[in-house]
Amino acid sequence: MGEFALELNDDQKGVRDWIHGFAADVIRPAAAEWDEREETPWPVIQEAAKIGLYSMDFYAQAFFDPTGLGIPVAMEELFWGDAGIGLSIVGTTLAAVGVLANGTEEQIGTWVPQMFGTPDDVKVAAFCSSEPDAGSDVSAMRTRAVYDEAKDEWVLNGTKTWATNGGIANVHVVVAVVDPELGARGQASFVVPPATAGLSQGQKFKKHGIRASHTAEVVLEDVRIPGSCLLGGKEKLDERMARARERKRTGGERVKNAAMATFEASRPAVGAQAVGIARAAYEVALDYAKTRVQFGRPIIDNQGIAFTIADMRTRIDAARLLVWRASWMAAANKPFTAAEGSMSKLYAGETAKWVTASAMQILGGNGFTREYPVERMHRDAAIYTIFEGTSEIQRLVIARTLSGVPIR
Ligand SMILES: Cc1cc2nc3c(=O)[nH]c(=O)nc-3n(C[C@H](O)[C@H](O)[C@H](O)COP(=O)(O)OP(=O)(O)OC[C@H]3O[C@@H](n4cnc5c(N)ncnc54)[C@H](O)[C@@H]3O)c2cc1C
Repeated sequence: MGEFALELNDDQKGVRDWIHGFAADVIRPAAAEWDEREETPWPVIQEAAKIGLYSMDFYAQAFFDPTGLGIPVAMEELFWGDAGIGLSIVGTTLAAVGVLANGTEEQIGTWVPQMFGTPDDVKVAAFCSSEPDAGSDVSAMRTRAVYDEAKDEWVLNGTKTWATNGGIANVHVVVAVVDPELGARGQASFVVPPATAGLSQGQKFKKHGIRASHTAEVVLEDVRIPGSCLLGGKEKLDERMARARERKRTGGERVKNAAMATFEASRPAVGAQAVGIARAAYEVALDYAKTRVQFGRPIIDNQGIAFTIADMRTRIDAARLLVWRASWMAAANKPFTAAEGSMSKLYAGETAKWVTASAMQILGGNGFTREYPVERMHRDAAIYTIFEGTSEIQRLVIARTLSGVPIR
């Protein structure tokens, strides 16, 4: 376990600077184009793969940094470059975390490399939990997984929505209901291998922000997958379901469901992405406020502007500290007794939205145009109070954890 330190070590600084260079030289110049095209920036993902930034090895190394700071530092720099492209590069990791959190060693070794492909033939992966009637309320999920014992196959049916990389992914990780009687506790995660019959892309969404990242429905019609695609294996699932039935019968302690395990592990990383966007907008605003002259003086000479700049930076630093604390706690296996993971995502997401809106205001009319990047950053930041659990759901989780009361 690494000690918590606010000073990055030399290795971490090296990785940060390396990603910053890629973000500045490759991602930023491409950001406006892919935002307008609203398409996955395959050439940029390929560039990232060529230098080893889009690879299982890179994420494994960052993930196993004993201080916990490997992932948040990487995320902040990538999303400082651009959030839409950033999400196209890291969207695969949500599915990879789904396999890492619930899969066996063998499943991890089989599926995670196929999620990334190779630098000459890059692939992406998708994590499919949300459904049209099951967003914040994952217990309302309807996609069914039925076991065909004779063939040792699972059969999936249902419609997933909002899936990042949905339909264009090589590997889809799908959360489905095995036992509807158990609500969220009756769910399990499955891998749908490449080119499996019955899985198709539904509607592709046209979005307000992060437009370079592909978001779509995924339709599952009699999708047959081998028994080995149940993450964690059948024996573990049967044991978990038996425990859940027993707890239901006796009214015992709650057990975590498969989707929640994935989200919990990824929340501080998502907070770090929001910090990256906020920092990018703050830098543009600071620069602009020092150079834009009105009434014969730079606008930063006005307290109203200067104090906003001061608040922007203060909130960004506070958000980063929350993200780093939660990331360190996760790496050190400290229990999140105050829902510190949710806290970090909540504060960072709200900060990104406020900082990018403030940056637009500081840039005046220019801030409202696509000549400057802050309007894109503001559109991108808006997703950070919605996905991976809305701000309201983060507050619910925090309040429930603090109080022990099942607040609704
Ligand atoms: C661009 C994008 C990418 C996404 N990527 C993925 C992905 O890769 N995989 C995936 O599975 N999902 C993904 N999602 C889905 C995302 O996680 C959901 O949109 C999110 O969980 C909210 O669900 P919902 O949209 O159905 O909103 P709802 O759950 O319908 O919520 C609507 C509003 O009601 C509020 N609300 C709901 N319940 C309560 C309550 N109990 N108390 C107070 N307020 C409440 C919410 O906070 C929100 O403001 C993505 C979404 C988007 C937009």
